[in-house]
Amino acid sequence: MTRSFDAPVFRFAPSSNGYLHLGHAYSAQLNFDLARAAGGRLLLRIENIDAERCRPEYERAILEDLSWLGVVFDRPVRRQSEHFADYANALDLLRSRGLLYPCFCSRGDIIAAVSGRSGWPRDPDGSPHYPGSCKRLSEDERRRRLASGAGFAERIDIDLAVGVAGGPFAWRELASPGAPERDVIADPKVWGDAVLARKDIAASYHIAVVVDDALQGVTQVVRGEDLFAATSLHRLLQVLLGLPAPDYHHHRLLLDASGRKLSKSLRAKSLRAWREEGIDPAGARARLALEPVCLSTP
Ligand code: GLU
Repeated sequence: MTRSFDAPVFRFAPSSNGYLHLGHAYSAQLNFDLARAAGGRLLLRIENIDAERCRPEYERAILEDLSWLGVVFDRPVRRQSEHFADYANALDLLRSRGLLYPCFCSRGDIIAAVSGRSGWPRDPDGSPHYPGSCKRLSEDERRRRLASGAGFAERIDIDLAVGVAGGPFAWRELASPGAPERDVIADPKVWGDAVLARKDIAASYHIAVVVDDALQGVTQVVRGEDLFAATSLHRLLQVLLGLPAPDYHHHRLLLDASGRKLSKSLRAKSLRAWREEGIDPAGARARLALEPVCLSTP
């Protein structure tokens, strides 16, 4: 298929905090195949706002592994660590609308505040919803703490933000085998007052991914189904920031022998290990057994 001016734009967005495992290879290859079939472009974004955990050697390894696999992407590579100003602009906009508040709590403070409250809501990642202690601080107290130099994160006031955004709003989820294309109504409140700028980092995954997808002109977000719930919050942020909504496809996850999703923390087998075992790229692609996805017709 030839490329047209309004051809779809896909992206693969790994974090450079470890080697690519087979789940990443699956996602990268699926994005590449879909982009090629649609005459579109594939961009690569290195998600490295966490300077503590992300390292240049992992980024080099990611590029090497993708090239071994035969996944080709358009240049330049976008590195999130070079774009904090973009995330700051988006946060300014939300702050100026009164949708963010500083939170001085530690993880321990939050756990202590909700302990013993049975049935306390948890977000899709399993963390307890923020109990709102810092939202209730008086203006004087907030100013006093800020002036004292106390560290703080910034949280979105989710009830207020959903009210301001109006709604309901949805995203287009592309079809895959057994699941027709459909509109999914976003439910951002499942996240509670999520952190949009961390104490130690002037951004968060959620704000950076939404800003970058828009700035890179991404029209198709194809990523693992472990991020399905996050898309609700991403849609809310897109509405609040006046950004376009890409189409989404949340693909199945590769599981290990005990049925857990592959993850760096569980030391999932890396693509490098496959290479070292003598598997060639064609063999690797065959083993990934990609799912067919139907791109939406405009
Ligand atoms: N950086 C995320 C990861 O490596 C993916 C983010 C996304 O695709 O939105 O899991």
